[in-house]
Parts: sequence; structure tokens; C-alpha cells
Amino acid sequence: MTDVKVQEVRRSEDRFLGSDLFETTQRTFAPANGTGVHVEPERSVPVYHSCDVLVVGGGPAGTAAAYAAARAGADVVLLERYNHLGGLSTGGLVIWIDRMTDWNGRQVIQGFAREVFDRMPEAGFAGPRPDDWGSRDPQKASYWGQRTAAFHGTVCWSPTLDPERLKLISQEMLIEAGVRLVFHGWAAMPIVTDGAVRGVVFESKGGRQALRAKVVVDTTGDGDVFARAGAEFETDIEQGDVHHSANTSFMLGGVDMDRWLAFRGSDPAQYANFAKMGREKLGFFQPPYVSWRNDIALFLGPRQSGLSALDIDDQTELEIRSHRMMKTHCDFFLAHAPGFENAYMLQSAPQLGVRHTRRLAGMGKILRSQWSEGIALPDEIGVSPSVSLKFPVISVPYGALVPRQLDGLLVGGRHVSCDANSHGFMREIPQCWLTGQAAGAAAALAVSAQVEPRSVDVTELRGELQRQGVFLQEPADAEPAMAKTADVGPVA
Ligand SMILES: Cc1cc2nc3c(=O)[nH]c(=O)nc-3n(C[C@H](O)[C@H](O)[C@H](O)COP(=O)(O)OP(=O)(O)OC[C@H]3O[C@@H](n4cnc5c(N)ncnc54)[C@H](O)[C@@H]3O)c2cc1C
Repeated sequence: MTDVKVQEVRRSEDRFLGSDLFETTQRTFAPANGTGVHVEPERSVPVYHSCDVLVVGGGPAGTAAAYAAARAGADVVLLERYNHLGGLSTGGLVIWIDRMTDWNGRQVIQGFAREVFDRMPEAGFAGPRPDDWGSRDPQKASYWGQRTAAFHGTVCWSPTLDPERLKLISQEMLIEAGVRLVFHGWAAMPIVTDGAVRGVVFESKGGRQALRAKVVVDTTGDGDVFARAGAEFETDIEQGDVHHSANTSFMLGGVDMDRWLAFRGSDPAQYANFAKMGREKLGFFQPPYVSWRNDIALFLGPRQSGLSALDIDDQTELEIRSHRMMKTHCDFFLAHAPGFENAYMLQSAPQLGVRHTRRLAGMGKILRSQWSEGIALPDEIGVSPSVSLKFPVISVPYGALVPRQLDGLLVGGRHVSCDANSHGFMREIPQCWLTGQAAGAAAALAVSAQVEPRSVDVTELRGELQRQGVFLQEPADAEPAMAKTADVGPVA
């Protein structure tokens, strides 16, 4: 790759990750040769099923949404294009679940997030014990700092986990709650009647069929349903920001991560030389993260920019490059990295790792300008940890899940209404569980009250979420801004 441009993303208040981004203009294939249009004949499609709440997309947000809607009493269907639940957190191999605690160690993302870990056996995850959350003990912070769970000298609840166990736990939670699962179904077009979404037409091996619902929750991550239903959305993002980049993650097996971490931590100059050699030899270069096991290394990059996850040619290019990079990284680490002497290619993710495409233009919006305020909003449906010690926790409003005009629809997950900076943390898995859970509970309440989602009684919604174990603040709980530092938190 001779034309690879490497851009170092610098840490700042608004750009969080000290990292490399890679861009190249080289493409494997010339553009497709299509011209003109093909007119599809109009046709009637069979109705497959009707329900109260249809959740489209079974990633973190969709799983939490379906669970919450069913627990709030709705008859729920979840439609997913692949063969499992968890989305990027399982099929994308994004097995590092980012921070659920604030900088004092208080778990602020609870509800579904907590129930998942209550069901997870010890062998299924790696992370600090609750007693250590918030600890600033230098030894503990140093240990967990190398293992995705301490930042700025503070131990956090941000574990890594076994994706197969998460798939299974999610699946069993939803079946127990009474959710009807439909795998291998790709939502193609929303059914829109009088300005409201009332289901989707989906494609499967059985052909094209309709799934009808009183309320639809779009948790596709890319806003497939709301975009095709005509809702307003935003796509702006800083081109050089890590949040714009995409890639397919992968895992190498047969490694000894303790040995690797000892090498990485022992001599910064030696490690800097190693990384320099990696960039020179590979062009695109990504160091590993720990996983839930010492013998598995996780690679959440190299992060590639300049390609769109809404463009089929770009998606294909991302996959081709990522699969090649898995091989070059395996060869390079095998030859040069302590702890990788017996490494092998364990798995590349079956789902393309997409950080950002569309964001809903909602009735409300999470804004960078509000990070410092520490105000518990009157329609708060969840609380996010902040990106740095400088900011208090962030109150997530119900309005961020509700389209400005379209009825019959709510959203949860990485495409909620927020500005480009706030997307940096709102796209993280715990925040997707949070917004998914709120969207699901709200959808169920809309159905039972026979109102549109925008008219859901927020006091009732907050009550339902609290009943489901969600952490919420009372408006008087607003935190003052914390000590000023320029430190910022991590994202991958
Ligand atoms: C490489 C990478 C590294 C990351 N690192 C971290 C990290 O360290 N920690 C962290 O917490 N977060 C991280 N993230 C972010 C996080 O993984 C995602 O933002 C999060 O998983 C989004 O959840 P979601 O439910 O909104 O969407 P997704 O996880 O994308 O799930 C969407 C689901 O909808 C399904 N779907 C989509 N379209 C359709 C359709 N038309 N019909 C039917 N089904 C459909 C998909 O198959 C998928 O299962 C990372 C992301 C990437 C890409």
C-alpha cells in the first residue's frame, strides 16, 4: 500500500483517542458499471406476523429494547439480519464493553447492562471487582490500565467478555421475557401509514414478507428504518476523527498476553521502536488489546477512514483489506512480538465494524455544549459516564430517541440524536444498552396508552425504567463540574 496516509488522532477535549487512522485511495475493484434504472413490478407480500412492538436490529440497543418492551408488558418481535444477538458487541468482536461507572466508581449504566453481568459466569469476562471501581490506588490503576479498565489513574467497570456467552445470555433473556426472535431477516422497507411507521417489509430465504407493529424501534445502528421512512437525520462527523473510521475486528489465538503486556510496559522506547517497525512493514498498524482470556488477543483496528459504511463498494473494500491485515498482523506479531510466538488467526468478525453513519434528528439532542452543565434533564431516561474527569455525568433525554415528525417510531443505539462530539460516547455499547432499554420501555408504554411515542408520559417511563433497575437522577441531583484537567477517556 504505497499511498497510505497515516494520521495521528490527537487527544483533545472533543477528540478522545490517541491513535492512528489510515487512509488510502487504492481500491481492489473499479467502480461497478451500472447505468439507468430497473423498475420493480408492484406486488403484494404476505403478512408474516403482527405485534405490539417490532424491534429491528438485535445489537446491544435492540437486545435491550426488546427485553425492556417485553418486561413492560408488550407483545414483542425482534428482527435481525444475522444469526445471533449482540450486533457489534458479539458478531463485530467488540468485546471490550466501555465504562459503565463514573469517575468515582459509581455504576451509572445499570438496568439491562447489570443483568447481563449478573448472568455472566466469572470465566466469561475479565474486569475489576466492584470494590475496586473508582480506586486510584496506583498499583491497581497500573494493572487495570493495561487491561482496558483504568483510565487517568482510576479503575473503571469496563470489562472484556466472551462474545459467545453474550450471544447466549442475550438470547435466553429475551426468550424468557417472551420476545419472539426472527433471525436471518433483513428489514428492507418501513411500512408508513399517515406519517407513522407501522411495521417493515423484510427479505429472507422465504422471500419478501411484512411484519406489522403498533410501534417500531429502529436499532439497526445505521437508521435504516427511519432514513427510509423519511425522517430527518444528520451525517456530519470530523473526517479525521476515530469515530468516522471503520474496519473488521479480529482475534489472534495461542498468545500469552501477560508476556506481551510485560514487554509493552517495560520500556517505552523499545515499544515505540516496535510500533515504528510495525507501521513501516505493514502500512496499516494496530497493537492488540487484552480479551477475557490470556491466550486471545483482540485487534479493534487498523482504523480506516475515507470509506462509507452505507456504500456497498466501500463496505466490500473494508472487508477485503481487513482480512488481509489480519494475516499481515499475525505474521508480523508471530515474528517480532514477545507473547505471540505461537499466535494463529482465530477469527475475523462476521460483522463489519461501523462506528458512525447516520444520526437521527430528534426532538431532543445530546450536545457537546451541555457536557459541563451536570444538569439532570426533566426527561432523563439514563445517565452516561462523561468522557473526562473534567465533566460530570451526562443526562440522556428521552427526546434524543424520538423523531421530530415521524410517528410510530423510536430509536436506540449508535444513531440516537446527538451532535458529532457526543456521538463519541453515545455510540459505546453500555450507552446503546441504555438508549435501547429506554426506547423499548417507551414503545411498550405508547402501545398500552394508545398514544404515539412523542406523547408518552415521561414520569411513567422513568418509573418503568427504575422498576427495571435503570439508574436515574432526580433533577436536584445535578453534579457540579469536577476538578479541571485536560484528561479525556478512552474509546476504540
Ligand atoms: C471497531 C470498533 C471498535 C469499538 N470499540 C468499542 C469499545 O471498545 N467499547 C464499546 O463499548 N464500544 C465500542 N465500539 C462501539 C460499539 O461496538 C457500537 O457502537 C455498538 O455496538 C452499537 O450498538 P447498536 O445496537 O447501536 O448497533 P450494532 O451493534 O451495529 O447492532 C445493529 C444490529 O442491527 C442489525 N441490522 C442492521 N440493519 C438491519 C436491517 N436492515 N435488518 C435487520 N437487521 C439489521 C445488525 O445486523 C446488528 O446486529 C466499537 C465499534 C467498532 C466498530
